[in-house]
Amino acid sequence: MVKKNKELEVAFLGGVGEIGKNMTAIKYANDILLIDCGSTFPSMDDTPGIDLIIPDFSFVKENLDKIKGIVITHGHEDHIGGIPYLLQECGNIPVFGSSLAIALIKHKLTEKKINMPKLNVVKGGDKKNIGVFGVEFINVTHSILGAFALSITTPAGVVFHTGDYKIDYTPVDGESIDLGRIADIGNSGVTLMLGESTNIEKKGTTISEKEVGITLQRIVESNPDKRIIIATFASNVNRVQQIINICEKVGRKVAFDGRSMVNISEMAKKLNILDYKDNTVVPIEEIKGIEPSKLCIISTGSQGEPMSALTRMANGEDKEVVIGEQDVVAISSQPIPGNEKAVYTLINNLYRRGAKVLYGSLEQLHVSGHACQDELKLMLSLVKPKYFIPVHGEYRHLKKHEELALSMGIPKENIKLVDIGNKIVIKKKSIQFSDSIEAGEVYVDGNSNVDSLVLRDRKQLSTDGVVILLLNINVENRQLTSVDILTRGIVFDEEFLEEMKILTEDTFATSSYKNESERGGLKNNLKRKISRVILNKLKQRPMVLPLLIEQIKEKSEDEE
Ligand SMILES: [Zn+2]
Ligand SMILES: [Zn+2]
Repeated sequence: MVKKNKELEVAFLGGVGEIGKNMTAIKYANDILLIDCGSTFPSMDDTPGIDLIIPDFSFVKENLDKIKGIVITHGHEDHIGGIPYLLQECGNIPVFGSSLAIALIKHKLTEKKINMPKLNVVKGGDKKNIGVFGVEFINVTHSILGAFALSITTPAGVVFHTGDYKIDYTPVDGESIDLGRIADIGNSGVTLMLGESTNIEKKGTTISEKEVGITLQRIVESNPDKRIIIATFASNVNRVQQIINICEKVGRKVAFDGRSMVNISEMAKKLNILDYKDNTVVPIEEIKGIEPSKLCIISTGSQGEPMSALTRMANGEDKEVVIGEQDVVAISSQPIPGNEKAVYTLINNLYRRGAKVLYGSLEQLHVSGHACQDELKLMLSLVKPKYFIPVHGEYRHLKKHEELALSMGIPKENIKLVDIGNKIVIKKKSIQFSDSIEAGEVYVDGNSNVDSLVLRDRKQLSTDGVVILLLNINVENRQLTSVDILTRGIVFDEEFLEEMKILTEDTFATSSYKNESERGGLKNNLKRKISRVILNKLKQRPMVLPLLIEQIKEKSEDEE
């Protein structure tokens, strides 16, 4: 009997057609390897009251016996934010990642009191056998330390995943992207490349992180009498290191403000990836006696996040830091699309308190962590994949990345543009779509998951309010004893309220009320009729909730 060639399958659970909640599964025979498990921060407009959006894990749950492990490209939230929920729902899956990524994951699991899985720390150049897959971790430069590309060897060929990267020839920590190794892997033959697409719309190359250090140094030096406050992403340890180096040089103390800034800096110091003298850092609670000219505060809140340290300062609500004319505030980030309004409100409020604020593109206060067109071209030309799938981008990014690959000679039939839920099969001579998998998004609200119906209700409640019809019914004779109408977020005058009560009574009188299905019919009738009258009169569409309350008998006062 001829042994059938086994196929390589790649399923997309998140991170395609969107920037956020990255998650991919690679399957060969009876083994599955997961890559990343991220989350997305929700927007107030589309998803009111939601804390977090994570991938739908149905595919993982259905294939639990085949899952051999999850490899993490780096510790950003869009790559690790879903892990606590994955482990909670799917049990113990071994996790592989850089020391920083693993420390960040451990912190999340401890906070949520989730059983620790086997956490494996790997470094650039390491190779691990995970089921049938031989996974090599390759150093890349990005806006967080400990970022990897992955070369995954399977019996059906090599899959190369770029992870998030830029090509920084002068990295702050001296650990550059391992272009030599990537070229070697490319020369030995790569079957499929998954390439990140975030900055495909930008020409040229991304500026080195070192440039931000130069700008920050100039800001510190040209404001020798002022207190300096720099807001940036806590996970950008390289940038925090640069700020600390500048402060040590000019003799300023450093204080960290904001929960994640304090946590991650502490973590990074323990891992020896953040380095400073013992007397450089002072706790934020102890900054009182320090002269403005001798202090620099590194804080969270560069995106105007409502609960962050910088927002508290700008609103005059921070316990330790009172903003005034002695302050220069540098916002070392770009607003992520959707956050602009919050960031500009923050800037306005800082100005109102008398601070000098530095932000935006006038100064090189921030550089991206993602590859621009020339870097994307270099990566494709080194890896030289047979098949190519652009990832980590909205549809337009993926489309543009396809165009770039076409311009470099990859044939159209060898490129696939994918969506969440798609599965790709690589056969001996082709790459094809196969049956879709169950996938999508799950909304996390506090400790529970909610669905899209809940969201629709929330939107309706927030714009048009709610009308509750309480029908008190005597269950013995099936007669309506009274109707109460409660409203929230919408106002009825006395006359209209009476009209609604009469309509409710009439509707009840003309309906049958015997079994479950008739009761359902009555409720629907009430919803429809009342909604229509409200729409005609008040031009509003509140949620209408009829409640049928069956009373065994009328309660008399003394029974209570
Ligand atoms: Zn990233
Ligand atoms: Zn990312």
